[in-house]
Amino acid sequence: MMKRILYASGMAMLACCTAFAQRLPGGVTPSHYNLSFDIQFASNSFGGDESIDVTLEKPSKSITLNALEIDFHEVTVTSGGKTQTATVSTDEKNEMATFTVLDGIPAGPATIHIKYIGHLNDKLRGLYLSTYHGRKYAVTQMESTDARVAFPSFDEPAYKATFDIAAIVDKGDTAISNNYVVSDKPGPGDKHTIKFATTPKMSSYLVALTVGDWKCEHDHVDGIQIGVCTVPGRENLTRFPLDATKAILHYYNNYYSIKYPLKKLDEIAVPDFQAGAMENWGAIIYRETALLVDEKTGSFGSKQGVADVIAHEVAHQWFGDLVTMQWWDDIWLNEGFATWMTPHPVAAWKPDWLVDQTVVNGTLNALSTDGVKNTRPIHQDATTRGEIETLFDGIAYGKTAAVLHMLESYLGHDTFRAGVNLYLKEHAYGNATASDFWNAMARASKKPVDQIMPTFVMQAGEPYVQVDARCDGGNTALDVSQKRYFKTPEDFNAPNEQIWQIPLCVKGVGGISPGECFLVTKRQQQFSMKGCSKFVFPNATGLGYYRFSYDNNALQGQGTSIEQGLTPEERIALVGNNWALMRAGLLKVGDYLAAGAQLKNTPGYVLLEAFTNYFETVYNDLTTPEDRPQLQAWVRQTFSPMMQELGYSPRANEPPTERQRRAVVFRILGVFGNDPQVVQQAHTLVQQYMSDPPSVDPTLARAVIAVAARHGDAELYAQYKAQMKSAKTPEMYYRYFYALAEFPDPNLIQQTLASTLTPEVRSQDLGVLINMTDVPASQDAAWEFMRKNYDALSDKTGGGLGGFGIFIEAADNFCSLEKEQQVQQFFQEHPIQGTERNQKAALEAIRGCASLKEQQQGTLSAWLKRNASTSTAREGAKASDASVR
Ligand SMILES: [Zn+2]
Repeated sequence: MMKRILYASGMAMLACCTAFAQRLPGGVTPSHYNLSFDIQFASNSFGGDESIDVTLEKPSKSITLNALEIDFHEVTVTSGGKTQTATVSTDEKNEMATFTVLDGIPAGPATIHIKYIGHLNDKLRGLYLSTYHGRKYAVTQMESTDARVAFPSFDEPAYKATFDIAAIVDKGDTAISNNYVVSDKPGPGDKHTIKFATTPKMSSYLVALTVGDWKCEHDHVDGIQIGVCTVPGRENLTRFPLDATKAILHYYNNYYSIKYPLKKLDEIAVPDFQAGAMENWGAIIYRETALLVDEKTGSFGSKQGVADVIAHEVAHQWFGDLVTMQWWDDIWLNEGFATWMTPHPVAAWKPDWLVDQTVVNGTLNALSTDGVKNTRPIHQDATTRGEIETLFDGIAYGKTAAVLHMLESYLGHDTFRAGVNLYLKEHAYGNATASDFWNAMARASKKPVDQIMPTFVMQAGEPYVQVDARCDGGNTALDVSQKRYFKTPEDFNAPNEQIWQIPLCVKGVGGISPGECFLVTKRQQQFSMKGCSKFVFPNATGLGYYRFSYDNNALQGQGTSIEQGLTPEERIALVGNNWALMRAGLLKVGDYLAAGAQLKNTPGYVLLEAFTNYFETVYNDLTTPEDRPQLQAWVRQTFSPMMQELGYSPRANEPPTERQRRAVVFRILGVFGNDPQVVQQAHTLVQQYMSDPPSVDPTLARAVIAVAARHGDAELYAQYKAQMKSAKTPEMYYRYFYALAEFPDPNLIQQTLASTLTPEVRSQDLGVLINMTDVPASQDAAWEFMRKNYDALSDKTGGGLGGFGIFIEAADNFCSLEKEQQVQQFFQEHPIQGTERNQKAALEAIRGCASLKEQQQGTLSAWLKRNASTSTAREGAKASDASVR
């Protein structure tokens, strides 16, 4: 599954807060399902006709499987030529049903036959209802534990079976499932019946079915038919995803020693979808924005996003679908692998996208998530539905991917690949655990991967590596020590006992030592590196999953040559690491800003984007209202020359990353610099763009729409609403939709908030509330609104974790002890089982930010007085008075 892209990473839909997904008793193993769904849109329901071939280990009077929100009509069990009608007892709390027969069932094979009615619910889970322009669609989302809502099943990942699926659908509708169509015949009545080829042996959470008036465009690669399917009218947005899928699937067919085993791969963009996308074998389902983008009018960011999501989901066809984790506690084997794999085919397809830089940024994001007390280990026990759903988080995806990138860099591309293929070969069409992975990797590499990986997978948190280097007789002596890193000085300075086995790659800059990798296994260790250098950088490649110290004096002694000495990826790692050092009290915020400014000319956009993300905290939380004009002046001093150099329109043959760079600088100056020229440009360009879209570069347009909104009035707000109505692509719609969250006018803020409770805002789009808590002008109002309307918002998302996720993510944006109290009280009033750790982490984040403010606000103020010119500060203040009413 692709993590919820906008909010609630780790939060999915729940029927009820007390629902448990307990384990099945065992003793009965399914091998094949025959499933028929008779879709009845008139009553928002479906008739299910199902038979399951099972094997009983020993004689039994009853069989227990998973079922939820199913109305059973008739259940029979056939074995040894005898068919018995079963009585059905349901256990809602455990989401199970038990079928009991009078004469018992002998050990060996049996067939269960079930007739039932299911409900096309509006909770975006199981087999559910999606709507678009008054038309109805039926869509599945089974992961993690919702196949049981669509059909009674042995709904645990280790119960793999084959599936024959059929759908009875209205005239004019079609159906798409995991495998290709084998027959499509008229009847019963006015309907027609579509049957699909038998699936490979797979887990129940991978079953897919979508019903509606889909329009599909096709292409081929390596003998596999690719289909991209949409609601009618969106077919013109399928060229880019078809091309991306062709390139990506072809890459994987070469990378893996096992080829994609199905004859077709469909990708369906559905109007309502909770996650970003879901990797159902042969039928991947996406949010519209995660799959559809216009070749001509799409921005670089959208194309990159679509390519990444496709690469992630297609990687799952191997990691997840072909080899599946034994149980949800190892969900990282699915999600972390798919996330790690993503940049490989994208980089091969689009070499000018500078994908390697984004990988380092991904590592920095994971380190940031992980640097708190209330983080969790990658491998984590989980039994209940809530516990399972909270595992789909930044740790399973981002941290695992980062650790795998470090390991791949340490072992080398080819060795790592050999380990991956050994692992896939040993577990194809089966299940695997964490140790299966690192044992295969250790055998293939002959390196102690089985020693390294458990230290990163089984224990929480991230290491801090202190490296002291000195030249000693022509070689570099390295004194290395490690401890756990924490974001707050208080926790960082407290003693802790954790130790990792860390592949530490050290690079020499300005000398004769090219660098070397060492395996750090102890708390303190000495290493010797050949040759001496002026400066030693302890994270060569930038892919190390650790925080590190470095000798700032030696770095500064390098002067400008640091930009020749470190690769762009290493400089990005340096900027992120500086932020971490600042948070732990080892660096002042002014030094962080100065170092970022020094590296701003690094090619590409990622360093600037990473710098801006952290800078947002400086601007929103560490700056007093009195100091803000000074900070804005510093932003203008630092970035205006870049804007002038880049200009407002792309040059001929400019690479897409340069366009993105322009957009990032435009946003920095427009939002954080209050730059009168950029604000004026935003107002001019947004009008130009709305009346004639091709006249403005689509990549810049996104920033233009957001910056204009930050300085916009009711008239512009009304124009955005009108643009949303006439938007020709999902991307266009969402550019304006999310920009609504940026308007500073209190009346407009209230309008945007109120709209979230109306059908105008789909439940999948409630993440806009999180965005509003991230904008200073709307933070208080948004939080107030969310607290007041908890029940309505919770209902809209189907209740439980789904609604709660937006509250937890919103809380992450707060930075005062007063807010911490409010959030704590809110959590006490709304205890949602399974989210306890996420609640603690949210409170810890608020306290951490409040303490950062206390430490750094004064030093920032002093630094600004020395480094920001007051004349430009006054100019900005005037612009601000003029444009924000
Ligand atoms: Zn995934």
